[in-house]
Amino acid sequence: MHTLFLIKPGEIELKLGNKREFARRLKEQITKRLKGIPFTLEEYPGRFFLTVEEKDSELTLFVLQHCPGINGVAKAIKTKKDIDEICLAAVECAKTEILTGAHTFKIEARRSDKSFPFDSYRICVIAGNSVLAEYPTLSVDVHNPDFIIRIEIRERAYIYSSTAAGPRGLPVGSQGKGILLLSGGIDSPVAGYMMACRGLALESVYFHSYPYTSPEAQQKVERLAARIAIWTGGMHLWIVPFTDIQLAISKTSYEETKTLMLRMAMMQAADIIAHRINANSIVTGESLGQVASQTAENMRLSQSKTSLPVLRPLIGIDKEEIIAIARQIETYEISILPYEDCCVVFSPKHPILKPDYEELKGYFESLALNNLIESAVMKSERKYFDFAYALKTNTK
Ligand code: ATP
Ligand code: MG
Repeated sequence: MHTLFLIKPGEIELKLGNKREFARRLKEQITKRLKGIPFTLEEYPGRFFLTVEEKDSELTLFVLQHCPGINGVAKAIKTKKDIDEICLAAVECAKTEILTGAHTFKIEARRSDKSFPFDSYRICVIAGNSVLAEYPTLSVDVHNPDFIIRIEIRERAYIYSSTAAGPRGLPVGSQGKGILLLSGGIDSPVAGYMMACRGLALESVYFHSYPYTSPEAQQKVERLAARIAIWTGGMHLWIVPFTDIQLAISKTSYEETKTLMLRMAMMQAADIIAHRINANSIVTGESLGQVASQTAENMRLSQSKTSLPVLRPLIGIDKEEIIAIARQIETYEISILPYEDCCVVFSPKHPILKPDYEELKGYFESLALNNLIESAVMKSERKYFDFAYALKTNTK
């Protein structure tokens, strides 16, 4: 037995000139993520159709629901363009829905093949009557039905009811590659997820300060990287030893500038890595004013250490909203584990809020951290969490 998935692509459909390139990316992503699962994938205007063996259908649905560029996915029945076969399939859909306790339904039909002898309205009436004849306890409710049976008349007829939501957005890689500054906190994993859904492929970088930060803090970041890999389709994590830099900063700095100096050093290291891996941008979990170090003035100084755009998808988002997303993408429970981040260990009580740009830029240069930063990047470890690993660790 086989399962057919009808896939509704997201924003790709709005692209005019380069729709083909976006569709190619999406197919590439689906193919990569289904490695090891036998499947066939067909593309038609506005729809993809994926067939897998029934035993693989649950895992496949999970994969598709986490693949950016997909708006929705439904298990569908494919029939000939024959009204009797279509009605039988509609009845079949109703049977499945009744088992979940549904009482009311409606039918929506779309006929892109105008040579089909019944128009959309007639298809709805005929199929609706068939369903009611088979299941007289059901009733039609066009405004607020428990379920909708959708019928699409295209190259074939496709009939389906429940549609599971996908992450929407654009296929990963369609916007090039970025480097995500991933700490163990709540914000940066959410930022990574959001940019992956905008089509950015990601590698992550974590700055750690062993022995001031524990191996558990690093393991937590690794778990987060593996979690985000569910959306990105795999994740490289650079683990950069930053202890020497932190110590240099903590010895020489004015107390209130420590966090800022550290951010600037991180940005400089991220910039080096970004050039190595051909990334076009740097992503952080900063949100304006969320903590004292995240003022516009501070961000101006940190981003002065790179010429790449610094993407901050959370910049205008309230903490509670960020937490809601973190819960939804299941990073929250990992992020709130108690292990300290390096910034927390060394952070001053009152970080500077409105630094003078020229003065602080000069101060950073006077710390002469370039060699230490270069060598930290040289000594970094690059781990890969492939998609299969992410699947194994994130599905029950
Ligand atoms: P998060 O919840 O992501 O840790 P935060 O609210 O704690 O964010 P900060 O500690 O000010 O904010 O960090 C701001 C951003 O800098 C983080 O979102 C992250 O992108 C980056 N960052 C901070 N610490 C590290 C680190 N140790 N390794 C990598 N990136 C970091
Ligand atoms: Mg943090």
